[in-house]
Amino acid sequence: MNLDFKNKKVLVRVDFNVPLEKGTFRITDDTRMRAAVPTIQHILKAGGAVILMSHFDRPLKKLNADGTINVQQYTLQHLVVHLAKLLSVSVQFADNCLGESAQKAVAALKSGEVLLLENTRFHKGEEKGDVEMAKSLAALGDIYINDAFGTAHRAHASTATMAQFFDKNHKSFGFLMQAEIDNANRLLNDAKKPAVAIIGGAKVSDKIMILERMLHVVDALIIGGAMAYTFIKAQGGEIGNSLCELDKLDAAKDLLEKAKAKGVQIYLPADSIVADKFAADARTGVMPSECIPVNWMGLDIGSQAITDFKKVILKSKTILWNGPMGVFEMEKFAKGTKSIAQAVAKATSKGAFSLVGGGDSVAALTLMNLSDQVSYVSTGGGAMLEFLEGKELPGIAAINA
Ligand code: AMP
Repeated sequence: MNLDFKNKKVLVRVDFNVPLEKGTFRITDDTRMRAAVPTIQHILKAGGAVILMSHFDRPLKKLNADGTINVQQYTLQHLVVHLAKLLSVSVQFADNCLGESAQKAVAALKSGEVLLLENTRFHKGEEKGDVEMAKSLAALGDIYINDAFGTAHRAHASTATMAQFFDKNHKSFGFLMQAEIDNANRLLNDAKKPAVAIIGGAKVSDKIMILERMLHVVDALIIGGAMAYTFIKAQGGEIGNSLCELDKLDAAKDLLEKAKAKGVQIYLPADSIVADKFAADARTGVMPSECIPVNWMGLDIGSQAITDFKKVILKSKTILWNGPMGVFEMEKFAKGTKSIAQAVAKATSKGAFSLVGGGDSVAALTLMNLSDQVSYVSTGGGAMLEFLEGKELPGIAAINA
């Protein structure tokens, strides 16, 4: 962001893919919009004009019956009033991110003003990373800033392809993107010991790469959520009806062996809250995680597991948390995830660096009003996961190129 913005038209790719209430289009969580405010305000203060680009949902996958785009449902116009409030300036809107509508609006835009372009995903070229679309978008401005970390793992026209039309002095990351990169790099390259990664969620297959990568970063790996049962079964445990990926048993065994060889301590839940069905009104009980009878399934970590996990978390100096410990959407199975959220916040208050990523762990923190009590909350679920796995994200590579 160390560029000269004075009298420049600055194209800023943001991630305004916010949840809207059905029917009323009221924004139910504006975190992503608020996250982009510092970048926008910096450019305005520096004398630039801001042209905002964003996708919203997947309109081309949800067309009207007659094959047309459901503009009413997927227009970014729904965000204009709230954005103006957040920025304390009026926000103009162009009903197409390409063509005459965008060009006219940009031509009339003055320094200190903000223009929001219509949903980039109204065009097929966006998700294809189309060069012609990227070129047309790039032609609208003098400088390109990418602040959309949430879509940095996509090689789309507005997130990656268009960066090639700007030289090094005319493109940059925004503040949000830079903060995401810095915090992830701090974990990967500068983790104070002891370090722990707490990985939960539904599937081993989604998280196996991050688990592998974390073996090179942390001293302890806590595995919770449904994916823990694949590991427990791989070790010969009885897991009843708990979720299990049978085709990942070998991958789980392999990871346990690699961890042993590297001296990384693996923690699996000693006990589980079990249920007789996947429902809020299920009968429940507590059982050792490796002795769950048929017809019962583990839906949360038990109190012994909470105690064990807390002990590790509280003595750690670096913490990564991604994924819930149980089906936290149902109150009966939320205690494990909530307790981990509390432990991560407590460790942070004692000086640990904590990075929390992934929609569900972030939601759990928000639910408990603990978001400001961890070191960094990532806005990018999939993007953060891929960054931590060690993949080069197209949105980042395109700015660095
Ligand atoms: P992920 O998107 O992979 O982070 O997975 C999150 C989902 O995993 C949440 O919707 C949880 O309800 C679900 N989940 C966590 N633990 C369990 C479990 N023990 N059994 C079934 N689903 C679970």
